[in-house]
Amino acid sequence: MTGKTRPTDLAEFERPALEAALATRGHEGFRAGQIFRWIYRRGVTDPAAMTDLSLELRTQLADEFALTTPTLEQREVSADGTEKFLLRLVDGRHIESVFIPDTPSMTFCISTQVGCAMACAFCLTGRMGLIRNLTAGEIVGQVRVLAGALNMRETAFNIVLMGMGEPLHNYDETMKALRMLADPQGFAVPPRRVTLSTVGLLPALERMASEPVMPNLAISLHAPTDALRGELVPLNKKYGVSEIIAACKRFPLQKRRRITFEYVLLAGVNDSSQDARRLARLLAGVKSKVNLIPLNAAAGIPFERPSDAAVDRFAKILADAGLTVSVRKSRGRDIRAACGQLIVEGQKKSAAQQLAVIM
Ligand code: SAH
Repeated sequence: MTGKTRPTDLAEFERPALEAALATRGHEGFRAGQIFRWIYRRGVTDPAAMTDLSLELRTQLADEFALTTPTLEQREVSADGTEKFLLRLVDGRHIESVFIPDTPSMTFCISTQVGCAMACAFCLTGRMGLIRNLTAGEIVGQVRVLAGALNMRETAFNIVLMGMGEPLHNYDETMKALRMLADPQGFAVPPRRVTLSTVGLLPALERMASEPVMPNLAISLHAPTDALRGELVPLNKKYGVSEIIAACKRFPLQKRRRITFEYVLLAGVNDSSQDARRLARLLAGVKSKVNLIPLNAAAGIPFERPSDAAVDRFAKILADAGLTVSVRKSRGRDIRAACGQLIVEGQKKSAAQQLAVIM
């Protein structure tokens, strides 16, 4: 399911693996760190320009290795400063990544798959189905391209895995990408600056609890009962609300850390006072904060955004019950860069790809 990449693609190496690959060619380990600094910190992709390496190593890199970088095809700027990037991958598939400035920090919203298999009822990406997983190099590649295009290689930024795709449905490559992003010789993004958002693929969630590099966790909950959630998030039929909440209660959290529960508000569907009270009861005893996301409407999405008054009423019930609540501002709606609006049209799946969708 992954893209075609050569085993010698520098974009796909974690530093220890690169050290090993260089060692077999007779080079010292620290060379891998130097190469990481060129690629990630300085945005240099041509080995000939890596001037602190020996001529022999530069020649070997050019002859025996490749460095695949997504191509920036289109860049759109929203009235609110949000920017959407359309990137083309090595096999011609497309993904989108989003830059969200000043929230208060700078944030990159990046994709983990081309399309998504989860088919949530209100999400445009879900309409694409899953086309393929991204490789770790393609996940990190988005950060390389955005940091370069925005001149942010020296700026601290947050990363949210909230673009196209379900990160826990592409577990190994996502975790590898997080290790690469955390590498002190690379972008050095500390895990506390990364948030992984998931619909709650339970086995993968449990697996993540023992990862050495662990991001912040956001759960796309959207409904307090199985009856309602099952209609919105098909995966709920497999992993239900109470199982997800139980797993969240067991999840090892660092001091003062909390799990974010995302809740897309759909007018007349999941925004009643009773839903709010049920949600408050469900989250009692979970180290949580709730992020309400008023629906970003789109053609073909059969739901409506609730009124501001309805959003406020819902938020107030949660706050009165002692929960921490925020309402997500919809950034970049004018360029279709907001939550659930990422879709790249015209990417046909093969029959085999359709079959490969796991549920
Ligand atoms: N698959 C992961 C990562 C995507 S994050 C997940 O579902 O968590 C994208 C977030 O935007 C999710 O919380 C998703 O539920 C939300 N979203 C999807 N469609 C939306 C829409 N039309 N309006 C507002 N939020 C939406």
